Amino acid sequence: MIVIIGGGLAGLSTAYHLGAAEHVVLESESTPGGLCRSREIDGFIFDYTGHLLHLRDPRAIRLVEDLLPGGLAETVRKAVIRSRGVTLPFPYQANLHGLPPDFVARCVVEFVKTLDGEVPDDPATSFEDWALAVFGRGICDGFMFPYNEKLFRRRPADMTADWVSWAVPKPNLDEVVRGATGVPNTGMGYNATFRYPASGGIGVLPEALARRVEHLRCDCPVAVVDLEARKVTLASGERLAYDQLVVTAPLPAFLAMARGGDTDWPSQAPRLDASVVACLNLGVAREGMGDGAHWIYYPDDDVPFYRAGFPSNFSDAVAPPGTSSMYVEMGLRKDEPYDPEQLASTMERGLLDAGLLLPEDKVLVRDLVRVDPGYVIFDRSRQQAMAELVPALKAHGVHLIGRYGAWTYSYMERAILDGLEIAESLHLAEE
Ligand SMILES: Cc1cc2nc3c(=O)[nH]c(=O)nc-3n(C[C@H](O)[C@H](O)[C@H](O)COP(=O)(O)OP(=O)(O)OC[C@H]3O[C@@H](n4cnc5c(N)ncnc54)[C@H](O)[C@@H]3O)c2cc1C
Repeated sequence: MIVIIGGGLAGLSTAYHLGAAEHVVLESESTPGGLCRSREIDGFIFDYTGHLLHLRDPRAIRLVEDLLPGGLAETVRKAVIRSRGVTLPFPYQANLHGLPPDFVARCVVEFVKTLDGEVPDDPATSFEDWALAVFGRGICDGFMFPYNEKLFRRRPADMTADWVSWAVPKPNLDEVVRGATGVPNTGMGYNATFRYPASGGIGVLPEALARRVEHLRCDCPVAVVDLEARKVTLASGERLAYDQLVVTAPLPAFLAMARGGDTDWPSQAPRLDASVVACLNLGVAREGMGDGAHWIYYPDDDVPFYRAGFPSNFSDAVAPPGTSSMYVEMGLRKDEPYDPEQLASTMERGLLDAGLLLPEDKVLVRDLVRVDPGYVIFDRSRQQAMAELVPALKAHGVHLIGRYGAWTYSYMERAILDGLEIAESLHLAEE
C-alpha cells in the first residue's frame, strides 16, 4: 500500500501514474489541487497569485494536452520591470536602457569585469557572492539584491545560491551591451511563453487530473505518522498502514507530526525556513489595466510589493466584460505580524502610488490571501538538514516530492514530473 499525503499536483500525478498499484491520496482540504486551485469571487477567477504553465518536458506536455485537449492558450510573456521611474522589459540584466546613463555605464563596466572571473560552484556560496560574480555590482544593486530581498525577506549574504540554476537568466556580453544601448532582449529565461486555460483559471488542470484519480480522499488531514509502525493517523482518529509513504505536504509540517526511529523528527523542523506571501487580489471596474502587461516586477524599496500581475490579461475568461483583475504579492518573514487589514491597505496605497490603481477606480472585489509557506529559504541550514533528512526518511520508506515536500523552489511542471518519477521508481521497486 502506498499512501500519498497531499492532493496537489504532485500527489495527484503520483496517484495517476501509479495506476493499478494499491494506493490512496489523503488531502486535508475539501477540494484537491493545493496551490494550483482557483477561486471564483463575484465573477472574477483568481489563482494563488499568478499560476502560468511553462512546459518543456515532453512527458508533461503529453499529459497536460491529454487532460485538457485544446484547452490551453499559449501566450508570449509580456513582463516588465518598473524601477527608478522607468519601465524596462524583463530581464533587467539584459535591458538596462532607459535607466540613468551613468548607472547603465556602471552596470556594463562592472558586468564586463566579471567576465574574467570564475563563477563559484561550491554549493555553500552565498547568493550575494554568486550574483556579484555573475552580474557585477551595478546589476546586483539595481535589481538582483533589492528584488530578491523583497521576495525572500532575507539578506543575499544569508542565502545560498542553489536555487538560481533555472530561475535567473544569465546574459552574455552581447545581450548586456545590446540591452544597455536600447536593443531589447526579449524571450530570455524559463518563462518566455506560457500556457493558461482558455476557460476557467489554472484550477481546471488539477480538477482534470483529479477526475482520473480513483483513490482520492479529501477532508482527510493526516495528524500523526508513525515511521516505525508505518502507519498514518488521520485527524479523525482513523489509522492506515502503508509500505511506502509519498509526502507532498510541507516538510516542516510533516516532521512535526512524525514519530518513531532514532531521530526526534519534530525538533528538525526549525532547520527549514520559508517566507510567507501576502497576495491581494482586486477586481476593478475598468478595462485594460496593466497596459497589456502580464506582470510587473518592482525591485525598489518605495513600493511595498515585489510583483503585480493582471489575470485579465492572461485570459478573457477570468474577469467579467468591462473589468480587469490584478494581484499584488508582498513577501513577509514568517515571524512578521500578519494583519490582513493593514497589509491590504498598504498594498492598495502602493498600487495608487505606483499609478496602477487610479483614485477614481471602483474596486469590485478585494480579497487577501496568505500563502504559507510561500518561498523556501535556501541557506546553509536547509542544505545540511536536507542532506541528512532525505536519506534518513527514505530508509523509513518516506519519499519527499513536490515544491514543499522536497522543500525546494519549483513549479507546476516539476510537481507533475515528481509524481511521474516517484511512481515509476515505486513500480520498479515492486517488480
Ligand atoms: C506565489 C506563488 C506563485 C507561483 N507561480 C507559479 C507559476 O506561475 N507557474 C508554476 O509553474 N508554478 C508556480 N508556483 C509553484 C506551484 O504552485 C507549485 O510548484 C505546485 O502547485 C506545487 O504542487 P504540490 O503538489 O507540490 O504542492 P501543493 O499544491 O502545496 O500541494 C500539497 C497538498 O498537501 C495538502 N496537505 C498539507 N498538509 C496535509 C496533511 N497534514 N494531510 C493531508 N494533506 C495535506 C495541502 O492541502 C495541498 O493540497 C507558484 C507558487 C507560489 C507560492
